[in-house]
Amino acid sequence: MKGTVGVTRWGLHTSVAGGWGEMLARAKGMGETAAQVFVKSNRRWEMPRLSKEDGEIFRKGKKLQDLWVCSHAGYLINVAGGGEIRKKSIRALAEEIGRAEELDLEGVVVHCGSRGEEEAGVARKRAVEGFREALEMSETRKVRLALENSAGQGTALARDFKEWGELVHGLPKNRRAACLDTAHAFAAGYDLRTEDGRGKLLREIVREIGRENILVIHANDSKTDCGSGVDRHEHLGHGKIGGPALWAFLREETWRGIPRIGELPPGEREDRENLAFLKESCLKT
Ligand SMILES: [Zn+2]
Ligand SMILES: [Zn+2]
Repeated sequence: MKGTVGVTRWGLHTSVAGGWGEMLARAKGMGETAAQVFVKSNRRWEMPRLSKEDGEIFRKGKKLQDLWVCSHAGYLINVAGGGEIRKKSIRALAEEIGRAEELDLEGVVVHCGSRGEEEAGVARKRAVEGFREALEMSETRKVRLALENSAGQGTALARDFKEWGELVHGLPKNRRAACLDTAHAFAAGYDLRTEDGRGKLLREIVREIGRENILVIHANDSKTDCGSGVDRHEHLGHGKIGGPALWAFLREETWRGIPRIGELPPGEREDRENLAFLKESCLKT
């Protein structure tokens, strides 16, 4: 595990507009100890070139700054689907994994995909095989692939933790990881507002996913109700989960050492408030 044991990192999804050096400066300016980025436009297939120089500047700067960084894969990727889209998705994901390793990132977060008209078992099998294929195609050796739980919107896989766990455990052991999104879990029906609900969520994650596989927590509040199946993030403490419940969940001893990243609408004041919340949610050593 990277970093000092016991230190819990925090940050936001951070823009790379202006280049990789700018991204580092932005993270530094906000005091982040962790961040998430898109290595390319999240709504396009094409991957831009990365010059050797830019790559080196980023790798060196990141190390110097002691910044933990993961990427989030593009939203078009659906390895659980069929036909041409699946092929395109595997290729695109392979490129993203390759870029992440080149930039020395800690992992790539990716959605498990949607089954469409397909039967869930078939879609799960397709997804696992697709993820494995992308890892192989990327010719990388270490960057981890973190499968994210979903709100269950449409026919998205991984709403149910048992299904999520099956997908995670389908990845090769040395590359396997998972990303827990609190807003998705809440929309999927895990009621984080009560101690019972938080306890159930924790037990299911430990049982189905394994604590060691959780690479990162997406700490988001939710605009939508518990069980709504609709994925809409809200600023921390301003949504239906609420501050005290998120706080209690994030301060759980089990999550010590796991970076937490907010994926929230940008805004100068909002960023500052969300970061202060995340920073305070980390247990001190
Ligand atoms: Zn996501
Ligand atoms: Zn979401």
